[in-house]
Amino acid sequence: MTVSDSLRGLALGDAFGEQWFLFPSSEVDDALAARRVAGGTWPWTDDTAMARVLVAHLHAHGTVDQDALAMGFALAYQADPNRSYGGSMHRVLSAFLAGEDWRAVTSSQFDGQGSWGNGAAMRVAPLGVWFADDLDAVVEQARRQALVTHAHPEAVAGAIAVAVAAAANSLCTSDLLDAVLSRVPDGEVATGLRRATRLRPALDPRHAAGTLGCGYRISAADTVPFAVWCAARHPDDLVEALWATASAGGDVDTTCAIVGGIVAARTGLSGVPTAWLASCEPSDIEP
Ligand SMILES: [Mg+2]
Repeated sequence: MTVSDSLRGLALGDAFGEQWFLFPSSEVDDALAARRVAGGTWPWTDDTAMARVLVAHLHAHGTVDQDALAMGFALAYQADPNRSYGGSMHRVLSAFLAGEDWRAVTSSQFDGQGSWGNGAAMRVAPLGVWFADDLDAVVEQARRQALVTHAHPEAVAGAIAVAVAAAANSLCTSDLLDAVLSRVPDGEVATGLRRATRLRPALDPRHAAGTLGCGYRISAADTVPFAVWCAARHPDDLVEALWATASAGGDVDTTCAIVGGIVAARTGLSGVPTAWLASCEPSDIEP
């Protein structure tokens, strides 16, 4: 499958995850249990907005040019700011627009630690497909795109994990978690991924989320291991992968965006109900 397939899967996951917020909160559990989705339009959010910038950037540059990518993220934010960007990302992208250097802005976040949020991971799956025939390039390019907004090593590790998972799944690699672990630098994300390898695939995703987290803390370490575990549970079935991911709750637009980008790298949108495709806001870009 192609980079565009991964981007479409990412956008579908993002919109599918976000549509739970269209239900009154008291009805979400029943809707999940009955596999009932919201009608009408499902808008995608910041996950897809930034992924579209990254894919357009690769079409224009062929590789990550960090200065140009920082401005690309900022201009997309300026044109369309109401995509549920996180609070720190509003400040970061506004600072880019004001002419501040991205290195200074991102490295000063969170008292100089840099952000360890899941934002560098949520957008990166299509990049993994782009460079899939060279895993060293997948790792390096995932790292470079992460650092433009997220200076903390855990955010970078999360992005590397998701990019490698998408690359490996596009090549139909049989054990995604092992493939990812072989490339992720040591730290909390890697620890979570190692924990994920010990969970049975048949385990209820809600129980897996109890061990791994599912994005309630919005950090890469609290988001990426669960998302990769869900993708590895259903590497060739996008719809089942998204139901499994959504069932745990948490930062569900982002966990579903990550899973959608990884699984669609192998499946495209095959098997997705036509009603979902009609509801999901289009995500294609002009190459
Ligand atoms: Mg989002």
